[in-house]
Amino acid sequence: MSTSRANRFRLPLANTLRVIHLCFIFVFVLTAILFWQQGQLFSQGYRTGQLSHLESVIARLESRAQYKVDNLRYLKRIFIEAMDDPIFPGSPVAPWEVNENAIQRPLWIGELPLPDTVTEDEAFQGKESQEVRNQLNGLRKIQGLFPLATGEHELLADLYYISREGEFIASLSQEVNEQLINSYNPHEKQGSFVLASPLLNPRRAPFWTRQNIANSDETVINAAIPVDFGGEWVGLLGIAFDNQSVQKFLASSLPEGTQSAYRLYDEQLKPLTKAVGAENNVQLNVEQKKTILKMLIDKPRGTFRSGSVFITFGKLRGTHSVLVSTQTLSQGLHEDFGRFSLLLVTMFLIFVLSLLGAHRIICRLVGNMGNLQREMQHHALHDDLTGVLNRRGFFEKTSQVSPNYVDYTLVLLDLDHFKKVNDMDGHQVGDNVLIHATGRIQRAIRKQDILGRIGGEEFCIYLPNSDLKTGIMVATRIKWELESSALILEDGSQLPVTASLGVASYREHPEYMLEQIQSLADMRMYRAKARGRNQVCWLGEDKFQA
Ligand code: GH3
Ligand code: MG
Ligand code: MG
Repeated sequence: MSTSRANRFRLPLANTLRVIHLCFIFVFVLTAILFWQQGQLFSQGYRTGQLSHLESVIARLESRAQYKVDNLRYLKRIFIEAMDDPIFPGSPVAPWEVNENAIQRPLWIGELPLPDTVTEDEAFQGKESQEVRNQLNGLRKIQGLFPLATGEHELLADLYYISREGEFIASLSQEVNEQLINSYNPHEKQGSFVLASPLLNPRRAPFWTRQNIANSDETVINAAIPVDFGGEWVGLLGIAFDNQSVQKFLASSLPEGTQSAYRLYDEQLKPLTKAVGAENNVQLNVEQKKTILKMLIDKPRGTFRSGSVFITFGKLRGTHSVLVSTQTLSQGLHEDFGRFSLLLVTMFLIFVLSLLGAHRIICRLVGNMGNLQREMQHHALHDDLTGVLNRRGFFEKTSQVSPNYVDYTLVLLDLDHFKKVNDMDGHQVGDNVLIHATGRIQRAIRKQDILGRIGGEEFCIYLPNSDLKTGIMVATRIKWELESSALILEDGSQLPVTASLGVASYREHPEYMLEQIQSLADMRMYRAKARGRNQVCWLGEDKFQA
């Protein structure tokens, strides 16, 4: 019972700290989860944002590409009409007279597949069939529409015509003419000319192709449409975009203030343009390309993170290309979601720091409380004057002693004529006598012995693992310690201090409780008083005089 009373002060404190730790861990984990969830939402929002940006660029690219294709359709119709009608509006002369009418820029004619570029007049003067001439005349009549169809002011694209019969190629720019001739490969299955044949294109639909220009990294992207005249396939009208044009095309399709770099690739992820938009020097590596190609099998759009780079990609319809946007971490932080994420991380850090601070303060407060409790407990169990255990402390401590020490002896001590000291020298001297006596008693006992001041000038000493004989020896030693050293008073005089001691052992009455053994020792102490004081008394009438 007394054990639990003693621990009542200690256990709850440790428990309180444990509960506080657990509470803080719980709050931390809960908040971390909430922040994590919020982070996931941001991340989801960021991904969606990236995809929708890419989507908007793709939509613009596609609509502008579609616009080019529509122009081609329109031009094809005009061209067919121009070939059909010798007095086509805007051309008041007969076809053979057209040459003399030096209008506009020269139409550059190249022969396919030979890269022999000459002007129309030199190459086809009277030696080709009426059909070729007819086509050339048709082209000259609509030549003025070429820049309109390509949107010359906007792009570096060029319109061209490839005749099937004569295998010539006509365009307004010598450069494009040469580029097309250089990229022309009559054996290439996916080449624009082959794809215009009724066999491969029975619906006569416009289509996109790409050709590599010989001896260079450049490619030409073509929008092309087959031209049929009089029920026969006569040629192909096309718009050629070189790399720079495509790049310009892409750059002008980006959203304002974009924080991503965009780059157009072919279906095998070979770059078609340089990166435009926000610069970040990110080059897709083999692994990243593999990932994109793999993801493209399932879905036309996708987004993933690779290290600190966020990659978003999407397929463009018709043009057989893939648009890829890349964004580095620092670029991402400039966007709204990045800023929010940064704010979230900062808030989390502030929260964690506050939590740690609060935890520290609370632990310190509880620690202080514990110290206070321990101090109070010390006061409750100790005597303020002498510092040794008080009555309560003495009985609590002796009750805690393990059963190994059950074989004990008690020494009860009462200072002799103490009242007289108080009366003659004052209470202060009386207190000093008590302090002095405590010191002397402590010198005479062993480490494991328990000393308590259980009354005014009454002390009890618990000697664990000691029989009566040992008890008598210790008591005698105490008696001697006291009588052999008087207290020196302020005036230098000596005040002798003696005590009467009673000794009782547990072995004498194993059936007795500690309190009963103490009463026995008390009785013996009184017997020592009765016998003249300053002596040790134990069994019955026996008396030991030192
Ligand atoms: P005896 O030899 O028979 O024990 O004589 P005594 O004078 O010591 O006996 P008594 O028990 O009558 O006196 C005890 C006195 O101790 C009474 C009280 O004034 C004094 N006393 C008790 N506690 C203190 C204390 O803390 N300080 C001081 N100065 N005196 C105390
Ligand atoms: Mg006394
Ligand atoms: Mg007394």
